[in-house]
Amino acid sequence: MFDKILIANRGEIALRVIRACREMGIASVAVHSTADADAMHVRMADESVCIGPAPSAASYLSMPAIISACEITGAQAIHPGYGFLSENAGFVQMLEDHGITFIGPRAEHIRIMGDKITAKDTMKALGVPCVPGSDGGVDDVDEATRVAAQIGYPVIIKATAGGGGRGMKVATDAKGLEVAFRTARAEAKAAFGNPDVYIEKYLQKPRHIEIQVFGDGRGRAVHLGERDCSLQRRHQKVLEEAPGPVITPEQRAHIGKVCADAVAKIGYAGAGTIEFLFEDGEFYFIEMNTRLQVEHPVTEAIFGVDLVRQQILVAAGAEMEFRQEDLSIRGHAIEVRINAEKVPGFSPCPGRITQYHAPGGLGVRIDSALYDGYSIPPYYDSLIGKLIVHGRDRHEALARLDRALGELIVDGVDTTVPLFRALLQEPDIHSGSYSIHWLERWLDQKYG
Ligand code: ADP
Repeated sequence: MFDKILIANRGEIALRVIRACREMGIASVAVHSTADADAMHVRMADESVCIGPAPSAASYLSMPAIISACEITGAQAIHPGYGFLSENAGFVQMLEDHGITFIGPRAEHIRIMGDKITAKDTMKALGVPCVPGSDGGVDDVDEATRVAAQIGYPVIIKATAGGGGRGMKVATDAKGLEVAFRTARAEAKAAFGNPDVYIEKYLQKPRHIEIQVFGDGRGRAVHLGERDCSLQRRHQKVLEEAPGPVITPEQRAHIGKVCADAVAKIGYAGAGTIEFLFEDGEFYFIEMNTRLQVEHPVTEAIFGVDLVRQQILVAAGAEMEFRQEDLSIRGHAIEVRINAEKVPGFSPCPGRITQYHAPGGLGVRIDSALYDGYSIPPYYDSLIGKLIVHGRDRHEALARLDRALGELIVDGVDTTVPLFRALLQEPDIHSGSYSIHWLERWLDQKYG
């Protein structure tokens, strides 16, 4: 086992990893930018190293700075968290050359899944059902028109290098397709440095259902059921829950096995998420994330497992602590993402926290790096905390969420808390009847 792990991240996810390390008796090293000198992850880790100025490109994304920090502190492994360098195959390769262990999958698997066209081809070959669409990339408008006519409108044009909900354009007819195709390519080139796009059928009322998988890197893999992340704004998740309100045990067992078998076959190591759109009882693969997800705590809650601990074990060459037959679901869990943003415009709202009080009690978990007097820097993601509730069933989880949100105090900046309190008044939220388009429509109606 490792003696010391460096966490190449900040905020709540850095704390999450530090906590797992401490429980395993492993020393932790935090890295930080100058803007984060007073951050909670720096205070909570056993050691810390300043790796550069405020902009992420010069600090949290600086591979040489992070590798130097490992060498100075003697850390043997790096946990990347999510975002930043977590899905950077070049970084994983570089760590290997320096004899540092990456806590995550092999570079090869990150590379395959990081390119959505290759990812889809790979999954299709592994027997995973995919959204109908182009066979690989589409290079010009004529080909795009041909493919779209074949699969039928509406279609969505997606960047193969896309991520974070960016690089997607919908076309409802042939006329719109030409504009959508050209804009999508131009935007993909500007945002990701790669203009390649592909086409998929645009599903009208799907839910976003993702399967948590875990592999030991030696051909054994399990699934930990699904998360429903259908409540989205601009293709970004806002609230996540597990199990999915509309997924039957048979559907779960079926798609779970398909996913576990697929990652077992490629010898995948560590945590991964296979994302699907789910419509009329069918699953359609959209992408795989080769890292821990923001919303992993809802899965941890219902299965009672520590996913970060498992990631560390597998990276160290040890066995996962469970087999498929050991995993069963208990109750229902919901996570809300608390962002420092002003509702309804969702503009970022950095600034000083004048008062912070975290909720507690049975079935309540807060993953947050906030504290009284903390100043949220303007340079990074606006996620400032996650509130996760667990109840015996969905009804109890929703009541607990309302109760916990009522106890939470975050003063000094605007947050998305009022959004969740308003959502909890909606009958559709209580009945679980929503597709990926529900939240945008609701926001339009409520705030115009
Ligand atoms: P990203 O990597 O940017 O997150 P994804 O491929 O995971 O992109 O898609 C993000 C979201 O975009 C999905 O959760 C869904 O809301 C929407 N989306 C993607 N593909 C389709 C599709 N074929 N039909 C309808 N919505 C889609």
